Amino acid sequence: MINSLDNIIRYAIKHDLIKERDFIYSKNRLSFLLKIENPNSDKLLIDESKIDTSNIDEVLKPLLEIAKKNNIIESTHPDYADIFDTEIMSIFTPTPSIIEEKFNSLYKKNYKLATDYLYNLSIASNYVRMNRIKKNIKWSAYSEYGKLNITINLSKPEKDPKAIAAEKDKPKSSYPSCLLCKENEGFAFDNFRQARQNLRMVEIKLNNEVWHLQYSPYIYYPEHSIILSSEHRPMVINEKTFSNLLNFLDMFPHYFIGSNTDIPIVGGSILSHDHYQAGVFEFPINIADIIHSINYDDIKISLLKWPLNVLRLKSENKESIIKLSVKILEYWKKYNNHNLGIYSNTADIRHNAITPIARKNNGFYEMDLALRNNMTSDEHPLGIFHPHADKHHIKQENIGLIEVMGLAILPGRLLEELNMLKKLLLENKIEEIKNNTLTCKHYLWSLEILKKYKINSNNIDEIFNNEIAEVFCEVLKDCGVFKNNDDFKTFALDMTKNLS
Ligand SMILES: [Zn+2]
Repeated sequence: MINSLDNIIRYAIKHDLIKERDFIYSKNRLSFLLKIENPNSDKLLIDESKIDTSNIDEVLKPLLEIAKKNNIIESTHPDYADIFDTEIMSIFTPTPSIIEEKFNSLYKKNYKLATDYLYNLSIASNYVRMNRIKKNIKWSAYSEYGKLNITINLSKPEKDPKAIAAEKDKPKSSYPSCLLCKENEGFAFDNFRQARQNLRMVEIKLNNEVWHLQYSPYIYYPEHSIILSSEHRPMVINEKTFSNLLNFLDMFPHYFIGSNTDIPIVGGSILSHDHYQAGVFEFPINIADIIHSINYDDIKISLLKWPLNVLRLKSENKESIIKLSVKILEYWKKYNNHNLGIYSNTADIRHNAITPIARKNNGFYEMDLALRNNMTSDEHPLGIFHPHADKHHIKQENIGLIEVMGLAILPGRLLEELNMLKKLLLENKIEEIKNNTLTCKHYLWSLEILKKYKINSNNIDEIFNNEIAEVFCEVLKDCGVFKNNDDFKTFALDMTKNLS
């Protein structure tokens, strides 16, 4: 048997969050937080042979039960417990200055030691809740463009209806200005705001300006990181963006880095705060085939065989890439093609934008520029170059940076819907698919699947995995502005002739 307080302190020591010297101090801090009079009481004993002491959820569980018993939290449901168990973890998470000092001293030895340190710390401190992320369902499937990766996002726990109702009546606070602001570091207010007491960032400089590097709490791929501007200011793609991205690669050459666009519909969910995303992962776009290449000064411009239109600039010369990226951005911002329904502006509103992705590849800089347009029409009120309505049963959210690279993030609701759909298909209850609230939106799609395959319990999972990837591929094609290679090639050739 082991004391449940000692158990979490052992976890923190084992994961290098604190040192043996901090034992008594930590135990006393925990006792106060949990309203425990005697931290050595037998009542706190747990059977360590029955729990996995390397699993933070199991280590925290007895402490949450104590907190509930002592009326500190209403329930152990994440909506009520997250802020409290994060407060527990913050006892063990070193302060930002200590972390930054260690990051910088490791960086002097090797950039990878520094990022490994911050990444592992963000996981050990439970800021990145790896146990939740592990619940995501992932697979790969082949399409006409090569491999595509699919993730069903199950890492965000279902909200408690009581908590949702209470949240609605809560006045919105203006501090921090947004979910990305540096003021989130260490922040906690109440159950309605995300717990950030264990969030730690390090300051980095991009082109002599202060930015902050942190890991994403949702980790969609290894070392999924966020690089945010020190100032709360809107997203922007301009010369400085391209320069910042390549500057970041000089500092962290093992990472890729990209940005969402700076306009709605074709971008990410946060437009109000300038930020990039980085990490270590070979996305499907990295290995896409090339349909055509053009030499331009010391740069090779390649047109990718990809459902969205992507130009890849490759050169050893960083300045050349930045200059050409700006020229292409400016050219694209003004580009119109009425025959293809591409309008750069309507009235004073800009519709053309670029999703940039940068990486280093054997000494060469690569800058991928995905051409985007966010116009809407009566036929496509959510966006002409956005997932069309016939695919909304799988995906209707914005297609942002991560998806552009070939990794689908699909909503968690799909799991339950697909399980029901598979069940009804195997029982041959086709009419019920139409009437069931979980499956009715998938009815037409399931008829298409039935036409293509003879489904049985052995092949149904594989068929669905492939067909979902197929829908994702079609979703990406909807986002492509040029619908065939010839139009894209004509655009690229005209562009290179007209760039001054
Ligand atoms: Zn902000």
